[in-house]
Amino acid sequence: MNVFLTMDYEVFFGEKSGSVEKCMTEPTAQLLKVANANNFHFTFFWDIGHLLALEAKVSEFPELSADIEAIIGQVKEMIADGHAVELHIHPHWEKAEYGKTGWQMNLDQHYKLSDFPKEERRTIFAKYKNRLEEITGIQTQVFRAGGWCIQSFADFKTLFEEFDMKIDSSVMPRVKWISQQYNIDFLSVKTSEPYSFSDDVCKSEESGKYTEYPIASRKYSALFFWKLYVLGRLFPEEHKMWGDGNFIAQPGGKKEMLTKGKMHHVSTDGYFASQLQASFNAYNKKKGENMVIIGHPKSLTKFSLKELDRFTARNEENIRFMTLKDCL
Ligand SMILES: [Zn+2]
Repeated sequence: MNVFLTMDYEVFFGEKSGSVEKCMTEPTAQLLKVANANNFHFTFFWDIGHLLALEAKVSEFPELSADIEAIIGQVKEMIADGHAVELHIHPHWEKAEYGKTGWQMNLDQHYKLSDFPKEERRTIFAKYKNRLEEITGIQTQVFRAGGWCIQSFADFKTLFEEFDMKIDSSVMPRVKWISQQYNIDFLSVKTSEPYSFSDDVCKSEESGKYTEYPIASRKYSALFFWKLYVLGRLFPEEHKMWGDGNFIAQPGGKKEMLTKGKMHHVSTDGYFASQLQASFNAYNKKKGENMVIIGHPKSLTKFSLKELDRFTARNEENIRFMTLKDCL
């Protein structure tokens, strides 16, 4: 079976963005060490809009130059180590303000690429892709939409065409989240196996021009979320996230998880990492051939780092760990 370990390389977008050091470079350095030790490569989805925003503000706030250098230095290290670094667009950076208290994100009406008018969508896509390729020195043809918001695909199709994108990995089968920022409905996708598509990211078409590599999803019980919260309280040393920012507030989200559970991604994030082996086993039993796992350096914990280390070391022989670039 092929397993793809993908990491969204970014800060937080809630009230506090957190620092580059704690959300990105420090936890990523830990991840790179595990990858080197266990001989696998990550696919990093780089929130390149963040770098462009830093670059736009650095003349006014020279202290930002250290962040710019640290991020670019680490991305070059990823490339040198053989990891894939691909395009991840969070377009709200176009409207973000920077001041003494840090970033103010202004997400309303600007969280998704679809929130922007057509011409602006194209400008953003071109600018982000060009800057990423300029730094990595490698063409990117693999995409993950910020917040998984790839719908409607009609808003992306001409961009995929013009900029020669081939693979998307934004869909989470059987997940639907509609909120002030999110607008995703992947309920009609029942498979985590890759499929071709053309007009609708959820609709498999044999002769489709693009390939979707869905992010593996599963149902987590309410009990799972209780454990997640309780362990975090009892053992903060093991379960506290590396990142020092806040997620976007989702009113009622926590209560729902603690009462009903939730369909969510297979992930290396925090306590989710406890289910890596079980999710893999279940999928393997169903004769699954490809599994895309998602994670975020900002959500790494000491616990999840150990779980990831164990999962990749234990399966070095029987899993083919690949990057999405290997699939082009
Ligand atoms: Zn993201």
